[in-house]
Amino acid sequence: MHTLPFGQSGRFFRGNLHTHSTRSDGRRSPEEVCRFYREMGYHFLAITDHFMERFGYPLTDTSTFWGEDFITLAGAELHAGRTEIGELWHILAVGLPGDFAPNLSGETGPQIARRALDAGAFVAAAHPAWYNLGEADVLSLGAIHAIEIINGISADHNDRLESWYMVDRMAALGNRYSALATDDAHFHEHHADLLRGWVWVKAEELTPAAILGALMAGHYYSTTGPQILDLQVFPSNRISLRCSPIDHVVVTGKGAEAVSLHGNGMISAELSMRRWNSPYCRVTLRDRHGESAWSNVIWFEG
Ligand SMILES: [Zn+2]
Ligand SMILES: [Zn+2]
Repeated sequence: MHTLPFGQSGRFFRGNLHTHSTRSDGRRSPEEVCRFYREMGYHFLAITDHFMERFGYPLTDTSTFWGEDFITLAGAELHAGRTEIGELWHILAVGLPGDFAPNLSGETGPQIARRALDAGAFVAAAHPAWYNLGEADVLSLGAIHAIEIINGISADHNDRLESWYMVDRMAALGNRYSALATDDAHFHEHHADLLRGWVWVKAEELTPAAILGALMAGHYYSTTGPQILDLQVFPSNRISLRCSPIDHVVVTGKGAEAVSLHGNGMISAELSMRRWNSPYCRVTLRDRHGESAWSNVIWFEG
């Protein structure tokens, strides 16, 4: 009925899908970046260097850094053309082929996003809040999969860590995107951009194809700390969940519609949404440190 990951077969794998290295403006080599995430317990990582002429259009092959329970996905942050307010586009593409062509001359953001989709990549609008991306911008990208809702480096760079407003606004207009938390790690000395946001993906196995397929199907959730062990939405609009200890559960719908539950160190919760009118909801779990886990937007039909 829903695209929630919890009822899918397989197991959860933790990953970061937005990372830079010395192949563009990051401060650590691809090998060091892979080692860091592997040692932090991540199962997969995408190094997504800036796909620009001045960096030689890097698409780093990191397959030599795979280890036990750790793989990498090929990716890049794509740049081309200008957004509505004249900013250079930032588009995240994970699962790109090694021969993905450099920007064609005069290529727009929507055009390079289309090429990435056609090449089989998982494509996301990067950090909307960070550079004031608008609704028309996101819609112009066509059938991309996701929108970043947490972008770690933005916190200390310009105080724009969170972009949930864009996913919410899109859902209210009937447009479906999944919601992605990432570090956008550069390993800068003064920007705390490590371990700020990640995804847990439910997949049959730890292979690029299985992880990419699960991402495209929305079989994942995002977090800055808490873990969601189970989350079910029943036809009677009842929500049931199990999780690491949290103090707040908030179910958010269209407009101002919401229900919430508050407690101390809850590891399970049930909420009723009997008078719920919104065609969708999303669920936030927040712990006593202020860290959150978020479901993707859950649509009740279609
Ligand atoms: Zn960016
Ligand atoms: Zn980036």
